Amino acid sequence: MDNRPIPYKIYLEENEMPKQWYNVRADMKKKPSPLLNPGTLKPMTEEELSQVFCQELVKQELDEETPYFDIPEEIAGFYRMYRPSPLVRAYCLEKKLDTPAHIYYKFEGNNTSGSHKLNSAIAQAYYAKKEGLKGVTTETGAGQWGTALSMACAYFDLDCQVYMVKCSYEQKPFRREVMRTYGAKVTPSPSMDTEIGRKINAEFPGTTGSLGCAISEAVEAALTQEGYRYVLGSVLAQVLLHQSVIGLETKTALDKYGIKPDMIIGCAGGGSNLGGLISPFAGEMLRGEAKYQLIAVEPASCPSLTRGVYAYDFCDTGKVCPLQKMYTLGSNFIPSASHAGGLRYHGMSAIVSELYDQGLMEARSVEQTAVFEAAQTFARIEGILPAPESSHAIRVAIDEALKCKETGEHKTIVFGLTGTGYFDMYAYQSYNDGAMGDYIPSDEEITRSLKNLPQV
Ligand SMILES: *Cc1c(COP(=O)(O)O)cnc(C)c1O
Repeated sequence: MDNRPIPYKIYLEENEMPKQWYNVRADMKKKPSPLLNPGTLKPMTEEELSQVFCQELVKQELDEETPYFDIPEEIAGFYRMYRPSPLVRAYCLEKKLDTPAHIYYKFEGNNTSGSHKLNSAIAQAYYAKKEGLKGVTTETGAGQWGTALSMACAYFDLDCQVYMVKCSYEQKPFRREVMRTYGAKVTPSPSMDTEIGRKINAEFPGTTGSLGCAISEAVEAALTQEGYRYVLGSVLAQVLLHQSVIGLETKTALDKYGIKPDMIIGCAGGGSNLGGLISPFAGEMLRGEAKYQLIAVEPASCPSLTRGVYAYDFCDTGKVCPLQKMYTLGSNFIPSASHAGGLRYHGMSAIVSELYDQGLMEARSVEQTAVFEAAQTFARIEGILPAPESSHAIRVAIDEALKCKETGEHKTIVFGLTGTGYFDMYAYQSYNDGAMGDYIPSDEEITRSLKNLPQV
């Protein structure tokens, strides 16, 4: 422990970086429910999952008992190029808010993909290469995952096929070009290249696509090409495992200065950055060693934790993926087109869902104009232009810091700043023009999309 004043940025030495990922399921007494085969409704076997995913990743997916997995040297080497990511003490923001709270953020945007997604992309590409595969297929919504995977595949010389939600493909041409620069083939989804894409196009002419639909296309593409597997950038247990590097680094950095956080806040789309950030802290709670307030923040327009139900659901629109028990709004739920802030997935990671259901974690939903207001405040005072997704966490961190100002409490707040927002300037433009609105789905809307839950 170090008694020096806390610097603006707490970095770790290379030898302090995590050598293993942490699997929080090992410390959960009640485990998340297993993935089910959508046909038989039986738990997915290793063999079934191996048709879609790489073998080593299937092992990680199914392993609920092993607490630590070694990070292979090839991945650790790549991590060292852009990690450790800094844990920043937001002195400037604290001063601006005039709060007695201490605010820290873990900044994951310091790589070309601009987000934490590279942490899992590089791991998934590595295992695919090691298995001797030709390439991988995936979907991308806003484009961060596709970019991260393109970078990872370029590094390991793997073919990368990305199905990009059509509205993003059109609205974010630069994202697309970054992916192509790294050698990926990018197809707008729904496309006419896959059976499911043709079906969705026929059923919903002119549709601008959704994540659930792009997932179905990418899975089909993996199943129909020799030597290809599907990879996913969030939701799955394996992704949370890789993302635990965020939480492990955060914990080491805090421990170095003897800092004990009161509150840890993360934005939640599919739950991977949040799950990764909170895992080591949730582990301490599960083992009865410490107590923290863990908070998931989601958009009011896509409120799976705060307004969804905890049930088995389809992970994709085409219903080809395994069923997962999770907090969900129904696989047909598509957030309003006016929603610009990312985090659009209808469901939530099974691990995060289970931790939430056990009461280990809270969830809040925030409206997008309030999110962009927080983003603007943060950009102006801390210098970083945050991704809209990350700004959900900023919103709640600021709100909590302002509460401390009223109560005089010196709470220590840690939040995940998952990425930068340079490719989200249409959304910022809409906010700057005063044209952004808030959309909150009605109860009827949610009830309607929940009617299509599978009967399990
Ligand atoms: C993808 C993404 C998210 C949300 O994904 P999770 O799996 O919920 O972490 C959050 N922030 C950024 C910058 C992203 O790219």
